[in-house]
Amino acid sequence: MITPCDFHTHTLYLRCANETMTIPAMIAKARELGIRQLGVTDHLNTLDKLPLHHRIKADLLALEAPGLDVWFGVELNFLDCDGDFAYHEQVRDESGFQFAIGGIHGTYCDTYDLRTIIDIQHRHHLATCRNPLVDVVVHPYWFGKHEFDRKGWPWFDSVRHVPESYAVELGQVARETGTAIEINGCANLDNAANPEAYLDEYVDYLAAVASTGCRFSLASDAHDISRMATALTALDVAERLGLTDDRIWRPRTPPLVPAGA
Ligand SMILES: [Zn+2]
Ligand SMILES: [Zn+2]
Repeated sequence: MITPCDFHTHTLYLRCANETMTIPAMIAKARELGIRQLGVTDHLNTLDKLPLHHRIKADLLALEAPGLDVWFGVELNFLDCDGDFAYHEQVRDESGFQFAIGGIHGTYCDTYDLRTIIDIQHRHHLATCRNPLVDVVVHPYWFGKHEFDRKGWPWFDSVRHVPESYAVELGQVARETGTAIEINGCANLDNAANPEAYLDEYVDYLAAVASTGCRFSLASDAHDISRMATALTALDVAERLGLTDDRIWRPRTPPLVPAGA
């Protein structure tokens, strides 16, 4: 049995998620879904956004006996191709982020070449694993549909384009570095931009990653309250993969707000 959890959610504060994603509403929805462990992880693309994260933390600390364990985390993005994250030890320690998830959020390509696009993703996945400040590689092979549409490119409609050797290497490096690979409900498993076959193909991809013995993080990546249920889709996929609870990543630190009575 895997304990239901969700370690990737967004709030209204950063204006990435919509107004349904208030901390109290997220707690209520997580309880309704039977989620026992929740991580709030809004984007930190530039350090001037830190005060908005401090408001999230204040709202978390105002919770009393929320009924599930709650952590304060952050999602990082590369500042440019092969660049850094807007993050370091001092930011972590001063803001009190308990964990960091991170990854690539664009193709960094101007012309369409599928192999190059995949190679760049793979390189950034490995770099994320090797960053000691990052605990989880987010949504492998998620792409923004709007980027592909804007550039007039054929959509990335199947993870079968990714060589199996890349999946295995990602799992190996994740295992070596103690980084978890995310199983992401909204971005990968239940994304309306993807054709029906995508899910089963993605499970096959994850199986190749999992063959290395690495750990996985379960996540909704919800930007709307109705989408938090996709954390349970991620849980279903973990069970399909035969993962046991010890293969599921959780933060090393105790929750910021424990479940309580
Ligand atoms: Zn993301
Ligand atoms: Zn996200």
